[in-house]
Amino acid sequence: KKANGNYTVTLIEGDGIGVEISQSVKDIFAAAKAPIDFEPVDVTPLLIDGKTTLPQEAVDSVNRNLVALKGPLATPVGKGHTSMNLTLRRTFNLFANVRPCKSVVGYDTPYKNVDTVLIRENTEGEYSGIEHTIVPGVVQSIKLITQPASERVIRYAFEYAKSINKPHVRVVHKASIMKLSDGLFVSTAREVAKEYPDVKLDFELLDNTCLRLTADPDDYKNVVMVMPNLYGDILSDLSSGLIGGLGLTPSGNMGNKVSIFEAVHGSAPDIAGKGLANPTALLLSSCMMLRHMSLNTEADKIEKAVLDTIASGPENRTKDLYGSSSTQHFTEQIISRL
Ligand code: NAD
Repeated sequence: KKANGNYTVTLIEGDGIGVEISQSVKDIFAAAKAPIDFEPVDVTPLLIDGKTTLPQEAVDSVNRNLVALKGPLATPVGKGHTSMNLTLRRTFNLFANVRPCKSVVGYDTPYKNVDTVLIRENTEGEYSGIEHTIVPGVVQSIKLITQPASERVIRYAFEYAKSINKPHVRVVHKASIMKLSDGLFVSTAREVAKEYPDVKLDFELLDNTCLRLTADPDDYKNVVMVMPNLYGDILSDLSSGLIGGLGLTPSGNMGNKVSIFEAVHGSAPDIAGKGLANPTALLLSSCMMLRHMSLNTEADKIEKAVLDTIASGPENRTKDLYGSSSTQHFTEQIISRL
């Protein structure tokens, strides 16, 4: 916190639509007089000794401010370096990715009253990046699951479940097939659960979760799901689809020290630079960030203005929500409702 009462937050604007949706957040925060000073940093990757590395200034900024808001970063396919998203998660040890998904009142989809939250293990699993070619035409990719990484994300899920008053944790897994790796995730959950007698624990196979979540999301209202990395990546996009798509879903990457909040979606190269992007997902991520900083009043005010604008009709909604509004018009409408 600074002498003027404001907090400094690192801002990574990101690629593609990142610039447009970050501008929307900055304009709305200024209009709402949220006590945040954004410190923009450049995270263009450096390749040092064959390793993708973050610019030191960006690392120092995040370590100093402890909280960051991040737009999407594009990962070029087949180029030399590791995904910057993975690099950020590893650099700051952001082990839990919290992804809530809630229907927007006034924006109808075939699913009513969706209210789910899943926590994705953020550091290992299929995303460990351990791949090699055995012989041309045969590659091997290793899924890494460790007890410490499983334990910390599962413990986070139990604590989170208590904090949001949904004392029920559901582990989503595929231990029926991946008996050792997912088996370790499952057995770790049973161990951690012993410390939380007041929180219910159950287990569900991933395929069954997909079936039941799309058949009746109501059954998932009062549980906190926790799962290995890849399953969380996929299941969170599925959940987004239930409420109107990727333009709407926020997330928080949580570590022991640093937290980075970002939209679930990517850089949307197909619509970048056209003024069509929906900034809602990044705005709701920024509201998660404000609540994490105990700035609940500001979070409630901004969130209400965003949701009210979406509910106000198709002329004020972006194209992904079957509306005709530009990013800028949508932003202005939110500001008029603050
Ligand atoms: P994407 O999420 O960028 O886009 C998928 C579809 O959803 C596109 O049609 C896009 O136009 C639409 N969409 C996404 N966000 C939107 C928004 N806010 N408003 C309106 N429409 C929106 O996924 P992709 O095309 O598979 O990936 C593009 C790039 O983003 C890739 O380089 C990928 O690696 C990267 N990516 C980054 C992150 C991240 O930074 N956390 C997450 C996912 C993908």
